[in-house]
Amino acid sequence: MMLQKKYICGIFGFPIRHTASPAMHHAAFQYLKMDGVYLAFQILPDDLKKAIEALRALHLNGVNVTIPYKEKVCHWLDELSPEAAQVGAVNTIKNEDGRLIGFNTDVQGFKKALEEGWGRSLKNARLLVIGAGGAARAVAVQGALSRVRSISILNRSEIRLKILIRHLKVHFPEIEVTGCVLGSTESRTEIGAADCVVNATSLGMAKDDPMPISPNWLDPRTYVYDLIYNPSETTWIREAIARGCRASGGMNMLLYQGALSFQIWTGRRAPIEVMRKALKNSLKFKV
Ligand code: NAP
Repeated sequence: MMLQKKYICGIFGFPIRHTASPAMHHAAFQYLKMDGVYLAFQILPDDLKKAIEALRALHLNGVNVTIPYKEKVCHWLDELSPEAAQVGAVNTIKNEDGRLIGFNTDVQGFKKALEEGWGRSLKNARLLVIGAGGAARAVAVQGALSRVRSISILNRSEIRLKILIRHLKVHFPEIEVTGCVLGSTESRTEIGAADCVVNATSLGMAKDDPMPISPNWLDPRTYVYDLIYNPSETTWIREAIARGCRASGGMNMLLYQGALSFQIWTGRRAPIEVMRKALKNSLKFKV
């Protein structure tokens, strides 16, 4: 089969079965009558470097990068956008005539989704981020760029926690950054004091996953955001709402980061409402 398309884009991840991105990008190509395709590639960890090099050989316009590769891909790109460099993670690669440029559209995608859901910005807020992977980095950096009062990080692995805290302190020395290991007793005080708590771990994607933190530790005035978009409402979000918190799932962040990626690859304004509808439909059928 010959694939002759003007735009060939896609997504690299492992596993990739959960992705809803192809549906929204295909809808955008179709609506704008553009000759484009968006493919999901499951890349094994040992093949990641070869897959990045293949972007040039296969003349792909670009790809999204998802769990667990957002930090790792930075090593093999020719250039990072200022935002991607600040985050230290890339979720969008553009192939510009063989030159691979890394962007991070999660930063702006998270900002737009959070501000819509909460009705205010993170300015002066006490932000608590659960997780220290690629997505958590984007959330924390957005917090810093929005001039939060403080950032507190909770993570399972202490080493990754320390690396992220150090990274934030280097890039944003004016912001108070603290952290502790997920489940520790100090974390309870930090959670209770936060104005906004964000789950940026992968906990909640699988049916029998435990919740990232106990909802009983949340103060009802706290706004809660879960990056997980499938299921659209995690048990943790449901429990936070039951406790009296306002809370949102990650679908809008996925939509807005995807719309920005589309613009980076094609130079065309993304049809947001068309993409939103396609995303909602696709998520309805995903298990
Ligand atoms: P990642 O780099 O692989 O990081 C995963 C994070 O989850 C790490 O902090 C890891 O902790 C933690 N984690 C994994 N399993 C855990 C467990 N059993 N218990 C406690 N912590 C656990 O992945 P990522 O790219 O940051 O993505 C994280 C999540 O965000 C994924 O679910 C992804 O789908 C979602 N996401 C959503 C959007 C959106 O647009 N809505 C955008 C980006 C990402 P350790 O450091 O201890 O391993």
